[in-house]
Amino acid sequence: MITPNMHYADLQNSYLFYNIAQKTKAYLTEHPDRRLYRLGIGDVSLPLCDAVIKALHEAVEDQADPARFHGYMPECGDPALRTRIAAHYRSRGVMLEDEEVFVSSGASDELGDILDLFDCKSSALVIEPAYPAYVDANVMAGRKIIHLPSGKENAFLPEPSEEARVGIIYICSPNNPTGAVFTREKLQKWIDFANENGSVILFDAAYEAFIEDEALPRSIFELQGARTCAIEICSLSKTAGFTGTRFGYTVIPKDLVRKGMNLNEMWVRNRTTKTNGISYIIQKGAAAVFTEEGQRQTAENIRFYKENAKIITRALEEAGLWYCGGKNAPYIWLECPGGMDSWTFFDFLLEEIQVVGTPGEGFGSCGEGYFRFSTFGSRADTLEAAERIKRLLG
Ligand code: PLP
Repeated sequence: MITPNMHYADLQNSYLFYNIAQKTKAYLTEHPDRRLYRLGIGDVSLPLCDAVIKALHEAVEDQADPARFHGYMPECGDPALRTRIAAHYRSRGVMLEDEEVFVSSGASDELGDILDLFDCKSSALVIEPAYPAYVDANVMAGRKIIHLPSGKENAFLPEPSEEARVGIIYICSPNNPTGAVFTREKLQKWIDFANENGSVILFDAAYEAFIEDEALPRSIFELQGARTCAIEICSLSKTAGFTGTRFGYTVIPKDLVRKGMNLNEMWVRNRTTKTNGISYIIQKGAAAVFTEEGQRQTAENIRFYKENAKIITRALEEAGLWYCGGKNAPYIWLECPGGMDSWTFFDFLLEEIQVVGTPGEGFGSCGEGYFRFSTFGSRADTLEAAERIKRLLG
């Protein structure tokens, strides 16, 4: 009998969003007259901006015209788009070669696929609370996982741990769920640590566009030494509303070498074997994000979510709750009041004010006692949820 990948048996049930869906469904069945105010979702509520829609339409028309039709696209991305993304980095002072940029169908896909570059015997360090996919993707590969808890005491930005001498190091900045962003100084410590020990940092920059404080790094490649120890994974999902359209990009510097193997070259080999590229239409839409007009329009959408963040944080302040995030990130991370655990607080908000958030325990055990609000909801839901939070807890 064939042996399946038995590491799948080691996966914990992915109950976080399933449980939330079950609980909200049960509540609505019992109270069909009630409406829910959703601050739980990590999905965007605004549509794609005009510049992207126009480019997508044009690309569809291209596919109808024999003279402009595109078949297979280059596996690592349309060269013109790789150039454009490299220029986008350059405009922020980060020098990249075009061939160091790879296009992808999104950060989730890439975070899973990129693990092909590493031996299954290497360990993976996950700073928690964390985006749940980091742990699961490594459990599937049978890797040893080192959980590095973070908390209020280090502003959810822990220092390098001796345990993680050689391995994969996940850094998500701005962080989902805590909204914490690594300062240059703190990030530099991880870069130096990775270079000293031969580790590789997987830098998840899915929320970089939400950083407004100029002193904070938006790319790990703004820092000295990152070219020899880091891979950066980016996404247009939250930056430009591509959650359902699917597009991301990954930077693997040519200087990233471990045990004589060049990881950029390995990734070219991987992509040319395992993909046939990203859809022409989607790449055209993505390219529009990197135009002046596209940047202006996507920045407007981000400002909308930032306004949602202000509405929620003002309510939390009035209610006297401790929170962080929301300023340089689309997530707000709060402490559950009265020592409640995060699922009890979830039930309490649902029952009392019909507001839905995400229990912190779902992001790792050190997330217990905390709760996440997303700023990606509609303005109407956000305003009503904020009023209800003030009334209930203020
Ligand atoms: N990384 C983090 C930290 C995320 O929160 C998410 C999505 O919520 C992703 C990656 C996945 O993004 P994408 O939609 O590009 O797959």
